[in-house]
Amino acid sequence: WRNAPADLGQLWAATAGHAEKDYLVYNDERWTYAEAHEAVSRIANWLHLQGVREHDRVAIAMRNYPEWMLSYWAITSMGAVVVGMNAWWVAGEMAYALNDSAAKVIIGDAERMQRLAEIRDQFPELRAAAVRCGDAAPSWATPWSEVLASAPEMPAADIDPDDDACVFYTSGTTGQPKGAQLTHRGCCNNVMSMLYVNLTQGGLVQKAQAESAATSQAAGAQELPPAQLLGTPLFHVTANNCAAQPVTLAGGKLVFMYKWDAEEALRLIEREQIRAISSVPAMTRELVLHPSFKDYDTSTVIGFGGGGAAVQPDLIGKIENLGRVANQGYGMTETCGIIAASMGHFLADKPTSCGPLLPIYDVEIRDAEGIALPTGEVGQVCIRGSQLIKGYLNRAEATAETIIDGWLHTGDIGYLDSDGFLYLVDRAKDMVLRGGENVYCSEVENVLFRHEAVQEAAVFSVPDERLGEEVGAAVYPRPGATLSPEALREFAREHMAAFKIPRYIWILDAPLPRNASGKFLKKALQSELDTAQAG
Ligand code: ATP
Ligand code: MG
Repeated sequence: WRNAPADLGQLWAATAGHAEKDYLVYNDERWTYAEAHEAVSRIANWLHLQGVREHDRVAIAMRNYPEWMLSYWAITSMGAVVVGMNAWWVAGEMAYALNDSAAKVIIGDAERMQRLAEIRDQFPELRAAAVRCGDAAPSWATPWSEVLASAPEMPAADIDPDDDACVFYTSGTTGQPKGAQLTHRGCCNNVMSMLYVNLTQGGLVQKAQAESAATSQAAGAQELPPAQLLGTPLFHVTANNCAAQPVTLAGGKLVFMYKWDAEEALRLIEREQIRAISSVPAMTRELVLHPSFKDYDTSTVIGFGGGGAAVQPDLIGKIENLGRVANQGYGMTETCGIIAASMGHFLADKPTSCGPLLPIYDVEIRDAEGIALPTGEVGQVCIRGSQLIKGYLNRAEATAETIIDGWLHTGDIGYLDSDGFLYLVDRAKDMVLRGGENVYCSEVENVLFRHEAVQEAAVFSVPDERLGEEVGAAVYPRPGATLSPEALREFAREHMAAFKIPRYIWILDAPLPRNASGKFLKKALQSELDTAQAG
């Protein structure tokens, strides 16, 4: 740990020794570390020629392409700041982030360039580089081939660990996305936290596996270098900070997916001997329940599960029934990545816990008045430690409400057990206030997921004259299965108190809407679904 990188420039420089190892894989394209290092220096040099200096912001606006990672290392190594633009954003949302961040340069792919064309007159000073645009590169953008023709000379930079490294926007699950300022220190500490999880829990899980004859196949995987499948987008911390960065420091390989597709993921797992997958639980469900799961060799994968949202206990059970290791991570943009993690027998012993907090944090569970609560009592999860963001860009008020005296108020509701394991009950903003009773959406969802015909389920509040709010549930059945609201309610009645049973149930004929990080868009469901059409 003594030689741990203090900033992302040092981190990147430390990987030069991996020279001829595979680094980036996209379809049939492959970059070694040596090739990536050369490209990164050329990109940084080009940015310098455009006038980009330390602390200036550079936006990356593209799908999961290798150029995302190359641009990221170029920008952070020269002391400039990455602005991760959500690739799903329409032109107006891109304009918002460009204004918010005052980016000097944008590096974008063909689709993003098209959207940018609609708003470009608002940003006369903005320079652009066009990635994978072919003949469609706009005349006002520098073609990528020209960027890569710059000299491979990394501009000198003097980086303070507390400088911003990147601005990532939160998912927007509870409102407008906020631009979180992640520092070099926060990002590097997160890499160390991820490696800590792998060393402690990961090592113990693999040891236990190797000792059990039934799963001896996975023991062989220990000798393989890290290989990560990037199923979630790189503009969020899950894929970027928790997957790509630690794998890079370890000299591993990143396998890009343009978009999530369960069968394609299975193909890539087999072909590239994938060891870890960056995914949210909804993707993992598709993957492990896929009819062809057993047709592919997935034995190299250490664990299935994910982060960004709760891994439901039934999914943990399904993974274990396949004889595989389940894992889950709790993290958020505001912590530059991970907060707590659990896997293997840790998770099997406490399937509703997201694990012990990483040692970098102090933790308190606080009540509405900010008073710390004793072990076992439910309140807001508050944490302190040198992995937190500096604040939200241009949002002093939101920053002051969220980080108080160095304590991050996560907005998540949970409790700690006597072993120090954290249990998340729900988000402060994801409860149904039904008359005098609070109904935790995730608790109801966990029950619905246990019904064999349910593929996806989201629970949310529906306005109600009498009780203020009522419980609503949107459900997408597994393909081929039949499901009625009555049958689901009857099932729910066996597992929970009457007041928690959804009053409104919509059985949808299409998957639920999700945001770019794969989380269900409850806000959209709330406004689109008509109670008159509920069962
Ligand atoms: P916004 O803050 O804009 O509303 P968001 O909170 O969804 O969006 P992220 O920072 O991507 O944006 O997500 C962090 C949140 O995701 C956490 O605060 C928590 O509510 C949820 N989360 C992450 N991991 C888990 C997990 N393992 N179990 C339950 N919830 C989780
Ligand atoms: Mg949040």
